[in-house]
Parts: sequence; structure tokens; C-alpha cells
Amino acid sequence: MVNYKDLGLVNTREMFAKAVAGGYAIPAFNFNNMEQLQAIIQAAAETKSPVILQVSKGARNYANQTLLRYMAEGAVAYAKELGWEHPQIVLHLDHGDSFELCKSCVDMGFSSVMIDASSLPYEENIALSKKVADYAHQYDVTVEAELGVLAGVEDEVAAEESHYTRPEEVIDFSSRTGCDSLAISVGTSHGAYKFKPEQCTRDPKTGRLVPPPLAFDVLHEIEKKLPGFPIVLHGSSSVPQEYVDIINEHGGKLPDAVGIPEEQLREASKSAVCKINIDSDSRLAMTAAIRKVFDEKPGEFDPRKYLGPARAALKTLYIHKIVNVLGSAGKAR
Ligand SMILES: [Zn+2]
Repeated sequence: MVNYKDLGLVNTREMFAKAVAGGYAIPAFNFNNMEQLQAIIQAAAETKSPVILQVSKGARNYANQTLLRYMAEGAVAYAKELGWEHPQIVLHLDHGDSFELCKSCVDMGFSSVMIDASSLPYEENIALSKKVADYAHQYDVTVEAELGVLAGVEDEVAAEESHYTRPEEVIDFSSRTGCDSLAISVGTSHGAYKFKPEQCTRDPKTGRLVPPPLAFDVLHEIEKKLPGFPIVLHGSSSVPQEYVDIINEHGGKLPDAVGIPEEQLREASKSAVCKINIDSDSRLAMTAAIRKVFDEKPGEFDPRKYLGPARAALKTLYIHKIVNVLGSAGKAR
């Protein structure tokens, strides 16, 4: 049993309360390798932004949970070395799908876990989320639960009205589970193809897809039911066209990739939304940088010569998100 406090990590409780009150959101960036972690910590340290290091089930399988935990511990030391006196770094399990998985993360030093039982019937979602929250709270680990179903590449179902979180359920759900934050479905979606072309309109000038807007009415209704309660948005990459263009210009093939416009995320950050998950955008930034090197310098075979530019592109992306989209810069001095 390792407690996250001994690793210099923090849970999300105070961080979220401040973010809700202050009208900004905390970035949750997924990582599964060293370059991604370096870029996240450099960006957070430079901007003095609280940050959530997010580990998915896939990342655990890819990189090994133990190694990732030591990397997060190393990240705290690295942040201090970069001159960030009081780093506020959360190590969070993304989309935990069982009690056992969440428990093993709590036991090994994660400071926050998500239990995603949103695909289960309502009462089963409550029972499992409560079980995780009861366990995690013994160690002061915070818990994110989910209500409503997001569409996306991991889900064959298209985003329809009926999949949005139902505001009339949120009070019952949050009080009975004891969760610390709630991931909701208001039109965001996982992956780089968040919407089918037929769900979008097309900009006549550029020929690019314009996605349907987020359901701010549903979000505001949820906020009214749970004043001040921390809300989380998953699937919130914006799929910047410049990365897609670089990828496609250098041998890639990502037709009609589309994300959530950043203005809408900025707007959401001002509400009770206090955590915004960004994963696809960093995948795109890395891939664009690496493809460019491979295409322009076919003789290059030193991994540092393409992972280095990928890391630099990630850092630029993260700083942009922190400063211009989420508004969390300077909130962790
Ligand atoms: Zn997610």
C-alpha cells in the first residue's frame, strides 16, 4: 500500500473547488510515455497550472502501472527542479471499469480514480460507483463517476439526444454514490472523429466540417441542480486542423477528422466544468511532428530526432490549452 501523499501528489478536492469558484478548468492530459510526461510537466511548471496526469486502462497495459506510478513520482521531483515550488499534480485513473482496477490504483499511489459504470443500468452504476467511492475515501483519494453515455470511437452508437446526461438524475446519483466529481455527456465525444459528416455542416469557404454545438442548456440545467459541484468533460479534444493538415501533407490519411471548437471549451470552463480531458489532440500533435521529420529527413533514425520535435509540439499544445482555453495558468503557484 502506497499513499499518494507520500509521493508528493494531491487529490482533486481543493483543486476543483477553486476551479469551480474561479471559472476555469484543470487540464487532464493522458500520458503513457516519457516524452508526453516531460511535455506535460514542463508546460504546467512554466504556466504554474495545476495538472491531472491521466492514465487509461490502455496506458496501464502499454506502459505498466508500476512504471507509470514511479514516473508520476518522478514528475513531482522534476517539476520542483524546474522551479515550480508547490506543484499540484494529480495522478488519475481514466475510465476505470471495475472495483478491482480502481482499488489497485488507490493501493499503488493514485490520488484520484474514475469509475466509469455509465454503460450499466442506473442502479448498477450507482452501486458500483458507491463501492469505489467508499473504498477510495478511506485513503482520501477522490472519485469521478459518470452519468450519461458519450459517443466516440469506443462506442458504436452515434451521439443522440437520449444519450445526454439527464439533469433530473444528477442529485440522486451524486448523493447516493458520494462521488467527488461527475463526468457528464453534453455532446462531447471520444477520438479524432467526434462527429459523422452527416451530423455536421460544411463551411462553404474551407470545405471543412463544422460540428454541432455542445448542449449548454443541459449543462446549465445540471449546474442548477448541483450548485458548485465539479463537472467533468471527456472527449474534449479540438482536433486542430493544422495538425490534421500536416499529417495529411506528409503521407497520413485523416479525412474529415473533427473535434470540439475551443471557444466552446473556453465557455464551458467558466461554468461548473472544472476538468477537461484532452488526449486526441496530443496524439495528433505528436504524429504530425513525427511524420514531418520522417518525410523531410528520410535518413533520420535516431529516435530523439523525431521524439524531440514531438515533445516540443506537445509542450506548445499544452501551454496553449492551459493559457488560452482552460484558463488555469497561475492557479498553482
Ligand atoms: Zn473519456
